Amino acid sequence: REIPPDSRSQTATISELLSRGETLLQGTTPDPRREARLLLRHASGLGDAQIMAFPERQLTAAEAERYLAWVRRRARHEPIAHLLGWRDFRQLSLRVDANTLIPRPETELLVDLALDLMPAGGVRALDLGTGSGAIALCLADERPAWSVSASDESAAALSVARDNAQRLGLKLRLLEGDWFEPVTGERFDLIVSNPPYIPEQDPHLAQGDLPHEPRTALAAGDDGLDDLRRIIREAPAQLTPNGRLMLEHGHDQGPAVRALLDAAGLIEIATHRDLAGRERISTARRGGD
Ligand code: GLN
Repeated sequence: REIPPDSRSQTATISELLSRGETLLQGTTPDPRREARLLLRHASGLGDAQIMAFPERQLTAAEAERYLAWVRRRARHEPIAHLLGWRDFRQLSLRVDANTLIPRPETELLVDLALDLMPAGGVRALDLGTGSGAIALCLADERPAWSVSASDESAAALSVARDNAQRLGLKLRLLEGDWFEPVTGERFDLIVSNPPYIPEQDPHLAQGDLPHEPRTALAAGDDGLDDLRRIIREAPAQLTPNGRLMLEHGHDQGPAVRALLDAAGLIEIATHRDLAGRERISTARRGGD
């Protein structure tokens, strides 16, 4: 007779649970071992050192069940960041949920470029479509002298960003509305955004973990450029003279984004490659008046 999984878990040791988790996660994630360990830590409250030192220790039945339930959800492609409730982004640990895009490592480059290209003092910065607040909070953390504003059309996303700002003790001006709409008439020295840029028909939207993330944070019209077009068209009027615009985009959208930046009258247009060597962030400057 088959032993139901949850009754077996009642006597499971850490090492047995980790290897079951690893097996169940094969094919879901490139790193099943690491994710199984993260979920076991989350379910048991134990640290990595304890997990490594006492593989024969038994978890309580409740802990083991909680862990296996999360592993099964992960095996159905719920993002690990949603199950854990947080994601590391650059120097910060951020709360995330299903209302926000999960911050990606390639977006850290956008923060690095902003820090490199802008002066350390007195910059007025705006992050469009801030989601969990990842980019804006990194800037506020690294540059206390800047004033950082962040907009999002989703009230639910803004409440995650607000929560992150409070927990980290960082000051953000959070604004609800579509792209530039809540800052009409204002000007910024730096405008950054990681907008949605995946074409609506791209099969990736239905694959892997992506169906669990907000579609409005991922997909942008037939060619994926709907939001980038709008941001780039409206940016010059919202930039101070010499102000900079920095945008994330798809790895194959570099030529189109550079053409849009040029058509908007912006100068010093450059595209930067991510860690995978793909074109990912384009930057431009408004001329001086
Ligand atoms: N880089 C993300 C992905 O391909 C998309 C994020 C976005 O559209 N801004 O999964």
